Amino acid sequence: METISAEKIPMLDLRLEFEYMKDDIESAIGKCMEHQKWILGPEVAELEANVAGYLGVKHCAGVSSGTEALVLSLRALAIKTKGTEYFTRDDRIITTPFTFTATGDAILRSGATPVFVDIDPLTYNMDVNNIKSYVGANRSKVVGIMPVHLYGHSCDMDNIMTLADENGLFVIEDVAQAFGGQWKGLKLGSVGNAGAYSFFPSKNLGGFGDGGMVATNDSELAELVRVLLKHGGRDKYNVDHIGYNARLDTLQAAILLAKLRYLDEFNELRRSVAGLYEDALGGLNGLFLPKASPAADVHHVYHQYTVRVAGGRRDELQKYLNDNQVSTMVYYPVPLHMMKVFRGRSIVHGNLREAEKAVKEVLSLPIEPLMTDDAIAQVAGAVRRFFA
Ligand SMILES: *Cc1c(COP(=O)(O)O)cnc(C)c1O
Repeated sequence: METISAEKIPMLDLRLEFEYMKDDIESAIGKCMEHQKWILGPEVAELEANVAGYLGVKHCAGVSSGTEALVLSLRALAIKTKGTEYFTRDDRIITTPFTFTATGDAILRSGATPVFVDIDPLTYNMDVNNIKSYVGANRSKVVGIMPVHLYGHSCDMDNIMTLADENGLFVIEDVAQAFGGQWKGLKLGSVGNAGAYSFFPSKNLGGFGDGGMVATNDSELAELVRVLLKHGGRDKYNVDHIGYNARLDTLQAAILLAKLRYLDEFNELRRSVAGLYEDALGGLNGLFLPKASPAADVHHVYHQYTVRVAGGRRDELQKYLNDNQVSTMVYYPVPLHMMKVFRGRSIVHGNLREAEKAVKEVLSLPIEPLMTDDAIAQVAGAVRRFFA
């Protein structure tokens, strides 16, 4: 039997990553100290070019957070497609209730109405059949779809894109949890009209503070995002749109440029940690492991390793693990349609039974690229003892 270490295993220990790439990061920060170009310095454009190359898209625009990446993408689409600053409440955008608040909040901030459809219980992503049935009955109202690649695993992008193309809808991918993930060889966020990424410190590519990115192949959309992030004007005195101060900091861009070089290696390490969990936790009665697509060209990047606990025992398992020096988190304990901010401002399509069940059953275990085999064994051992 493995020994239980005195130190609690955290969800994520960002110091490990920092130690691993310390020299690169310190030199990147040092260069900024020398040039002192803190606002839209050279590192921002360099990061945009490198990320565009990495994703295989024509344009990337750095922004101040993942949330702003979503909002600016939507605002740019309203301006481009409707010629108005904002969508109206009659414009409906279909998304998942099982996500971080920012997804739905961005839709509200763009002026549109979120429509929540239920998820697929195996992948936790939107079930395309539910999107299809809502679009079928409300074609004239729906303007777009906002898929979220939850926990790092792709939505069913073939069927989402086909549905969108057939009905003239836009698709904005929320890629906050899936930087580097793939759908049939394409990088997530490069499939729809735009992809919105977050560089929040705990994300797969995380900065030392807030940051985000919009990726798109649409030149007009990219230009509009660039205008919106700098107060809505081409320059300070030619302001056409209701803008934001939503620039990506030079310092964050410099740090992210250094970390981008490790992204593929780190995502592969996440996938191997997930593989070790799968070997160690398979076959336990009442525990369901994450279901990644079996296709070789669909890459789950395990932003979270989220298990499902049947029989109403999720909270009991969480407490047991906590008592045994293992941190865990529930992402997410409340579905968006049950939050006050969305009440009276959103539409629920059919019932959201699977999302409402998932919030009571999911539990995310510690996962990070540099997690040691000992730590993985300690987490898995504690989970196994609970079910023994
Ligand atoms: C983190 C996250 C966001 C928001 O990103 P921020 O950079 O924190 O603003 C949006 N959607 C999802 C699914 C997220 O996980």
